[in-house]
Amino acid sequence: MNSHMMEVPLLISSLIKYADRYHGDTEIVTRTVEGDIHRYNYSEAHERSKKLANALVKIGVVRGDRIATLAWNTHRHLEIYYGVSGSGAICHTVNPRLFREQIIYIMNHAKDNCLFFDLTFLPIVEKLLPDLPLVEHFVLMTDKAHMPVSQIPNLLCYEQLIESDSGNFVWPEFPEKTDSSLCYTSGTTGNPKGVMYQHRTTILHSYAAAMPDALNLSARDVILPVVPMFHANAWGLPYAAALTGAKLVLPGAGMDGASLFELFENEKVTLSAGVPTIWMGLVSHLKDNKLKFSTLKRTVIGGSAVPPAMTRSFEEDYQVEVLHAWGMTEMSPLGTVSIMKHKHLSLSKDKQLAIKDKQGRPIYGVDMKIVDDQGRELPWDGKAFGELLVRGPWILNSYYRDGDEKTLKPDHNGLEWFPTGDVATIDPDGFMQITDRSKDVIKTGGEWISSIDLENTAVSHPDIAEAAVIAVYHPKWDERPLLIAVKKQEATLSKEDIINFFAGKVAKWWIPDDVVFVSELPHTATGKLQKNKLREEFANYKLPTA
Ligand code: AMP
Repeated sequence: MNSHMMEVPLLISSLIKYADRYHGDTEIVTRTVEGDIHRYNYSEAHERSKKLANALVKIGVVRGDRIATLAWNTHRHLEIYYGVSGSGAICHTVNPRLFREQIIYIMNHAKDNCLFFDLTFLPIVEKLLPDLPLVEHFVLMTDKAHMPVSQIPNLLCYEQLIESDSGNFVWPEFPEKTDSSLCYTSGTTGNPKGVMYQHRTTILHSYAAAMPDALNLSARDVILPVVPMFHANAWGLPYAAALTGAKLVLPGAGMDGASLFELFENEKVTLSAGVPTIWMGLVSHLKDNKLKFSTLKRTVIGGSAVPPAMTRSFEEDYQVEVLHAWGMTEMSPLGTVSIMKHKHLSLSKDKQLAIKDKQGRPIYGVDMKIVDDQGRELPWDGKAFGELLVRGPWILNSYYRDGDEKTLKPDHNGLEWFPTGDVATIDPDGFMQITDRSKDVIKTGGEWISSIDLENTAVSHPDIAEAAVIAVYHPKWDERPLLIAVKKQEATLSKEDIINFFAGKVAKWWIPDDVVFVSELPHTATGKLQKNKLREEFANYKLPTA
């Protein structure tokens, strides 16, 4: 067919080219792993990404090769995002917090042939060495002065690797459906699974993420992604920042409340993003030191349900707007954001906050529905809950190199949907609320109890720092909820106090049968509660009601 419009492929290199040409002097600031503050701009980032692309060619990297990273959010990691994908290879961000066996599995499954890593991870990489036979080049992301003595043969130094190369590199043009980057997602059981993004899906997702009713990004923003670049590409922010020309602030390994707060203030950060656990540390640092943000306007919180108490604290104590977002690695990752519609603006603050407790409405490009066990669509009444299915142009079709396993589910009209494994309600305005992961739901006497609701209620108690609710066996009801909670320091709360606290806040039959206080709860490598660990630990727990 004769097209009357230009055919310009949607490629990742176009993002950094655009940022260089139209926002060249906009800053990118990094707290480096070596400890100092590094400051440059989009033009210099582009130049260095091209130098890296040249260096990759020299060491023999070809299109389609998988280049792994074990790295924090830094300017060098950003250059790898652009240099690797821009030249047609695949940027595979590996989560360094995974167990050793999982890292080995992931890197061998992906057949990574280069590994770029930060100084922090040198001891891990040295131990992994015998189990990574396919990796031909190891590159330490530092300068000559910081190169350590290491047992890794032919260890390359990032700065030396790119310094000898010219910034004269012409980004190649190839079809937009070329693979660009790879991220493994670890379910609670089985091996991690690879999600392979394309140039096209990455650009479409970046457009959508930047929209006012999504993350609302612009050239007036200063973005600090706390969410790691190894967690679903820092939710797409390194791409969306270039697409909008926003200033980027990268926190390196300094994820504690004090280091983050210093960067927020010094760099005049307007928007940040991260999982709830990371904000707990930051908010308690602010409270303990009686500090306030002076420039932060919005924060994206997702990855796990945002406890309502956290939203209220951000909005009421700190005047920071919470953007409660939901998504998955399989969705690039953004699916929904909880942002008001015009008709909600006249509601009371309390009612508006209650809307923000929901995971939100889909951004354009994502379609969703909830279904019952037979795949029949359930009503959008905010009450009926069922499995959440999604479809859209940046949502996974099948896992990377996963054989013929069928991931999508066809509906009665022949449309294919991705089953999220989440259980949710949808209200008449299209706001979705996760009630549970399908495997976390508590099934009691044939009815379902939302563990997330119970956890949110528990953490709204002023003496509770964190809470998890799991199902434990009950001879009469099959399963009943057990609350496992961490008390705030110096709190003198009893089991009875917290049980009584639930009265009037949830249905009577939802109230946990028992409470166990622990000093900490287990988390996954991306900061989510690791309920499978708790289920193992409390597998034989005998409830007082049993
Ligand atoms: P991941 O791919 O590791 O980001 O995990 C995706 C899963 O995290 C989703 O399927 C949800 O179960 C959970 N999740 C992400 N965002 C939220 C949220 N805002 N509220 C509740 N669960 C969430």
